[in-house]
Amino acid sequence: MRKVLSIFLLVLAAAGLAACGAEATPTPNAGGAMVDNTPVAGADTGGNTLAAIKQRGKLIVGVKYDIPTFGFLNPATNKVEGFDVEMGKAVANKIFGNPDAIEFKEAISKNRIPYLNDGVVDIVFSTMTANEERSKQIDFTDAYYVAGQSLLVPKDSAITDVKSVGSKTVGTVSGSTSEKNIRSAAPDAKVELFNTYAEAVQAMQSGRVDAVTTDDIILFGFVKQNPDKFKVVGGQFTTEPYAGGVKQGNTDLLNAADEAIREMKSSGKWADAYKQWVSSDNVPPVPPQDWRDVGK
Ligand code: GLU
Repeated sequence: MRKVLSIFLLVLAAAGLAACGAEATPTPNAGGAMVDNTPVAGADTGGNTLAAIKQRGKLIVGVKYDIPTFGFLNPATNKVEGFDVEMGKAVANKIFGNPDAIEFKEAISKNRIPYLNDGVVDIVFSTMTANEERSKQIDFTDAYYVAGQSLLVPKDSAITDVKSVGSKTVGTVSGSTSEKNIRSAAPDAKVELFNTYAEAVQAMQSGRVDAVTTDDIILFGFVKQNPDKFKVVGGQFTTEPYAGGVKQGNTDLLNAADEAIREMKSSGKWADAYKQWVSSDNVPPVPPQDWRDVGK
């Protein structure tokens, strides 16, 4: 019996590998690992509702895998970690009383909204700015962080702020607000698009781009990884309120997520997460509930 079982497992593993190799256009991602974009069972028949999630026994959360402070697949532990990961765990804890009743999937900027609408993930915490345009496609939770766009440059760069970018080449990510914002803030710059911020930073190291632009908190993570090589310059030139995303009309899940976020904010767990992943020096007031009120 045991032998039959192990042969069965071997066949399964081989089939998995074959499927992996056969994937024509695997979603590019940070670690080069395969991305699992299979919709959860019954996704088209309400598989992402709170009731279906409870029945399944775990929450499926889309996070980044390449952002050291917010969503990062740590090669030393093989686990994802960061502020966005804490938000996902808080929602799993709200639903199941267990922060580990959770499965993470890599959701890069350009696929996080399709992942919600195709039922690949239940909820996304992926350094995502809430804005009017996106709110026509998905529903947003309460705001849980406020970032602002900035610039990452090599230590010896002459770029000091967005005005001094001129006609230089700037790397950023497809499907991000950063792409749109840099085109209006530095209209003469050449913009090169990547799938992940880690790839954009690699391109800067090889001299293909002169700077990388996105939210400051993302860029600080890359400085933390490489303090001798990079610096963040120019301060914030936009305001980016982060919120979680769910499929439109998935109200029970949205309410559970909002409750989890409110409890994090009122219990001090939000401040703890901030100290752990952002900065222990200066914890700001918690963001307003409604992302539309950020910066008002
Ligand atoms: N927060 C911005 C956005 O949602 C930039 C960071 C990102 O691409 O995730 O587009």
